Amino acid sequence: MENIERDTLEVDILFIGAGPASLAGALRLRQLINKHNGEHGGALGEITIAVIEKSREIGSHIISGAVMDIRPLAELLPDYKELGAPLEAEVGKEDVSYLTRRFKIRSPIIPPPLRNHGKYVVSLNKIVRWLGPIVEAADVMLIPEFPGAELLYDENNRVIGVRTGDKGIGKDGKPKENYQPGADIFAKVTVLGEGARGSLTKKLVEKLNLDEDRNPQVYAVGVKEIWELPKGRVKPGFVMHTLGYPLPNDTFGGGFVYGMRNDLLDIGLVVGLDYHDPFTDAHRLFNQFKQHPAISKMLEGGKMLHYGAKTIPEGGLLSQPKYYGDGFLIIGDSASFLNSQRLKGIHMAMKTGMLAAEAIFEALLAGRFDEAHLKRFDELVKDSYVYKELYEVRNFHQAFRHGRRWGLIEAGLQYPTGGLGLFGDLRVEAGHENLRKLHVFNRLPKHPGDVPQAEPAKYDNKLTFDKVSDVYRSGAEHDEDQPPHLKVLDFDVCVRRCTQEYGNPCQYFCPAAVYEVEEADGGRKPKINFSNCVHCKTCDIMDPYQIIDWVTPEGGGGPNYINL
Ligand code: SF4
Repeated sequence: MENIERDTLEVDILFIGAGPASLAGALRLRQLINKHNGEHGGALGEITIAVIEKSREIGSHIISGAVMDIRPLAELLPDYKELGAPLEAEVGKEDVSYLTRRFKIRSPIIPPPLRNHGKYVVSLNKIVRWLGPIVEAADVMLIPEFPGAELLYDENNRVIGVRTGDKGIGKDGKPKENYQPGADIFAKVTVLGEGARGSLTKKLVEKLNLDEDRNPQVYAVGVKEIWELPKGRVKPGFVMHTLGYPLPNDTFGGGFVYGMRNDLLDIGLVVGLDYHDPFTDAHRLFNQFKQHPAISKMLEGGKMLHYGAKTIPEGGLLSQPKYYGDGFLIIGDSASFLNSQRLKGIHMAMKTGMLAAEAIFEALLAGRFDEAHLKRFDELVKDSYVYKELYEVRNFHQAFRHGRRWGLIEAGLQYPTGGLGLFGDLRVEAGHENLRKLHVFNRLPKHPGDVPQAEPAKYDNKLTFDKVSDVYRSGAEHDEDQPPHLKVLDFDVCVRRCTQEYGNPCQYFCPAAVYEVEEADGGRKPKINFSNCVHCKTCDIMDPYQIIDWVTPEGGGGPNYINL
């Protein structure tokens, strides 16, 4: 809405998204400022640091059941143990296996890139819920329920802050009684740590052409559950990774099982979002994974407690946008700082947040926040282990572009060649461009008017769960009286072109049953159950026509993840 009066807030440094990258960055910056002020009689004066977050509570949108490299945590908070860091357990027994439909073939050795000795099984959700209050106690303003709706620019395209989302707009687009316009928050530096496919980062990259000459970003989606098993069965620190079933040869990904404390088991499946078959459904594949004899045996007698899904940036170094510019930095998953070979991004998120803090600190000393000064972040990244690690795996995901078998050979050759492999640096297409039309799979309608559909999946609600039951266990909630935050730019394309060409893949790729296409009087009609949305962003990535735009809903809406 134009011409409305908005509150304004001025801070020095603004982080967007209270994930591990922003929280580590904000805390590191405060530490550096405090140290400098202590040594130089308060020379920098009072510097305000704020972190805005779209979720109800800090941490409730954070999901990653993970094996964490704790180097940056130990650097940031050397007394993390005394502070009660919720690490589940140091990695103990490891298992890497190949699954066929019925059998599990265990690798006699753990391939070096998958060795996790010295790392810790964690729930990122718990880590962030623990870290938030520590950051706040260090005099950083944490502002939950404030989604960033759009970035603010000056006349020279310099980022000068963010406009937060309005509250109290009805589904008819009109203000309700509780209407509260979003505020404009101005900052010297705005740091984007929104996670994978951040909605503001996406627009910024497009506007300033930050991905020129880079590979497009490619993603995977991880779908997971937390199970409570009979006492004593879960070995905390147990780590299992699988390849093969239920993923077809042409689909990148694999399964994981991590042992947590208190008899909890973290189990999930990662599916590359550059598959060909438009009926691919990561949630359904995850349920097939659980039905594998080796996995279902582990879950026998257990109870499923929590569910969630999230996308993961897989493109690595070659897909990174330029992550600095006038008035802004991009950190963590938003800038593709994730090692896709080792499926690890938390340490890179935290470390890049901390390196951003160092660059900002130097900019504060110089009193200059333009690209020339913020470029220091890039120098610091290139001098750090983050860059070295990413460089060595820069072609990993791309190696699987012709399927798993060839991918394993090519990725194997990349290991001794420092990431180069057989063909040097590889170009790839964006994930949605890999979708093939229905005729490629012989799925064209038999009679005019027929609509090709995938066979309905069956769920027993003991081991396998339909999407709606799973969404219930994600705690997802949105006020229904608001405009949908999934902007479909042209419904006509959905019911005419997409139905015939791809069979409406949104019904399958969304792991939360948000999209349905109903038969209604006079034809097909899309239905969007936006309140189910768990904010994974798969639809924004995989829609074949790129006409779905995920924007932030009213503050506080979304999943309420626990232990995930
Ligand atoms: Fe994920 Fe989109 Fe479905 Fe929301 S609507 S859960 S962002 S795929």
